Amino acid sequence: MTGFSGGCQCGAVRFRVAGELGMASICHCRMCQKAFGGLYGPLVSVLDEKDLSWTRQEPKRFQSSNAVKRGFCGECGTPLTYEAPDGVALAIGAFDDPGAIAPVIQYGVEGKLPFTDRMADIPARTTEDDFEALAFLASIVSNQHPDHDTETWPPVKSVHTENI
Ligand SMILES: [Zn+2]
Ligand SMILES: [Zn+2]
Repeated sequence: MTGFSGGCQCGAVRFRVAGELGMASICHCRMCQKAFGGLYGPLVSVLDEKDLSWTRQEPKRFQSSNAVKRGFCGECGTPLTYEAPDGVALAIGAFDDPGAIAPVIQYGVEGKLPFTDRMADIPARTTEDDFEALAFLASIVSNQHPDHDTETWPPVKSVHTENI
């Protein structure tokens, strides 16, 4: 398979981009902070909208201004799109391989939060560094869709009718 795939956390919405992606960015404007619930919005444009297909459900959309709609999963809330008259952009973190999509420009820097530039310098720990939480972590069962397309989701649980 060529191109790029991704989707929301629960897997109800999945997308595929058959062609090339455009410029990847982060946007510090207040609307992107709100729409992503994040410190900024990470987005990559789709060069040709015909290359974008929704392979499960389509996102729900919120008309965030007279010009722009923001798409998100109606089941789990994952932010997914920025849809303007001049094109569509997808949330970088929603891709199956977000590490391959490096932002190359920052927009809306007048809205940048005062601590954003210091984030790389604050103390850092791995998940396993928290020894007291290891037993809890071992008990976690993820409901997150895996980072690849699936035939069915959630997985069909095998039913042992002979025990009923
Ligand atoms: Zn979802
Ligand atoms: Zn923005």
